[in-house]
Amino acid sequence: MRRKVIAGNWKMNMLPDEAIRFIEELTPLVKDTENEVVLCVPYTDLFYVLLNVQGTNIKVGAQNVHFEESGAYTGEISAKMLKSINVEYVIIGHSERRQYFAETDETINKKIKVAITNGLKPIVCVGETLEEREKGITFDIITKQTRLALEGIDKDQVKNVIIAYEPVWAIGTGKTATADEANEAIKKIREEISKIYGNDIAECVIIQYGGSIKSSNAREFLTKSDIDGGLVGGASLKPEEFSKIVNY
Ligand code: PEP
Repeated sequence: MRRKVIAGNWKMNMLPDEAIRFIEELTPLVKDTENEVVLCVPYTDLFYVLLNVQGTNIKVGAQNVHFEESGAYTGEISAKMLKSINVEYVIIGHSERRQYFAETDETINKKIKVAITNGLKPIVCVGETLEEREKGITFDIITKQTRLALEGIDKDQVKNVIIAYEPVWAIGTGKTATADEANEAIKKIREEISKIYGNDIAECVIIQYGGSIKSSNAREFLTKSDIDGGLVGGASLKPEEFSKIVNY
């Protein structure tokens, strides 16, 4: 049985003092959950958050990583740097990064590889734009993105990769796919993983839904057969709201 992973993506929000207060408030609210609770926070919060989650069941992730091990890449952060302070997860290929920072399927694949090599668990985002959805090519897009993301990644490694299906038009817009649509899309992604690695492996891979999840709709999504958790943006910025999603 796959575990549910509920990950918050704070994006470019929260100063360290706000982050520390957030952890204090969230900790008692999620302490009894069997779900994996992850907070993907800005680089400048990582160290403070890591100190403050000690002794709790809250895990910590970054929101990006560079694809090279080290070198002359001013302003970038390597996988080894993240691992050195005990970061466990990293979001890779979020649609905002694909859209505003020219990330491609190729760089995303390289980032996943460097993350895995350094012992980080990648949360890899795939999803169609509104235009692609209207053209009826959602499944082609998300299966292609999945295939390219996983190129060259072996069977044992893929078990530690989380895929987040995030329709681009549903991110931060208040619009969501229906839970059935999200479940169908996630089944297609799982089928694609099965074509590459076989059914047994595909059944182990955690595939989340993301896109305007909030406490009032979380249960609908998170009780579907193939949806193994959520990647939560806006609603992860308030401890009580986020805890209700975790405890859906
Ligand atoms: C996200 O940033 O991954 C996301 C899903 O955002 P929101 O929940 O705000 O739509």
